[in-house]
Amino acid sequence: MTPNIKPLIAGNWKMHGTSASLSSLEAMATGFAEAASDADGVICVPATLLERAAGVVEGSSLQVGGQDCHPAEKGAHTGDISPEMLSDCGAIYVIVGHSERRADHGESDGVVADKAKAAWRAGLIAIICIGETEAQRKAGETFNVLEEQMAGSVPAGASATNTVIAYEPVWAIGTGLTPEIADIEAAHAHIRQHLRKQLGAETADSMRLLYGGSVKPGNAGDILSVENVDGALIGGASLKAEDYLGIVGSV
Ligand code: PGA
Repeated sequence: MTPNIKPLIAGNWKMHGTSASLSSLEAMATGFAEAASDADGVICVPATLLERAAGVVEGSSLQVGGQDCHPAEKGAHTGDISPEMLSDCGAIYVIVGHSERRADHGESDGVVADKAKAAWRAGLIAIICIGETEAQRKAGETFNVLEEQMAGSVPAGASATNTVIAYEPVWAIGTGLTPEIADIEAAHAHIRQHLRKQLGAETADSMRLLYGGSVKPGNAGDILSVENVDGALIGGASLKAEDYLGIVGSV
């Protein structure tokens, strides 16, 4: 954690969830304030659930977000969703550049940067994801990869209020594997240091840096106590209220 930065515990439901899942969101909204009074929380639900999800969390301190957006406000882009549309449905945040989007849809750093700027245009907070693959880590390229991704996907104009950075080692996502605590600490320190150069110290020192990749109630306490880790981005464990609130309670 970083003193003076309010942590963010973000859930990413990915392509999971139908109407029936809203009861679990309701339990998260009900339990959130009691689990942690001094943290922000968001669940990034599938776009199909967003409007109803926003209704479910209304009046609680939990918020909802989208998982991706198109850079344009509107136009001939069949199947895509603009950040303005997400905002219209009640989103406060949107994830951009998740490694699954980068891999499945060939999203480059430039596309991710355009999506982040589009998110700001619509008044959304962009959660920009970066992270190395297993091969890159084994080759000792982790820091270079992170620097390149920050340079390419975090646009000028990023501030602590419009942007959150999520460090997600690709090999830790959905695998049950997590880096050693010392490796998380080193990566987050490196990210903060690089952001100081890229965005200036004042911005970098107040920006939230989340760790993501196999965060569970059992390891959240250790991970969230690491210096420069200002919250978590949670996939699998954000689907069940008990798990998500367990992680929130570790803040
Ligand atoms: P996981 O996913 O928690 O299931 O590993 C994290 C993510 O992809 O954001």
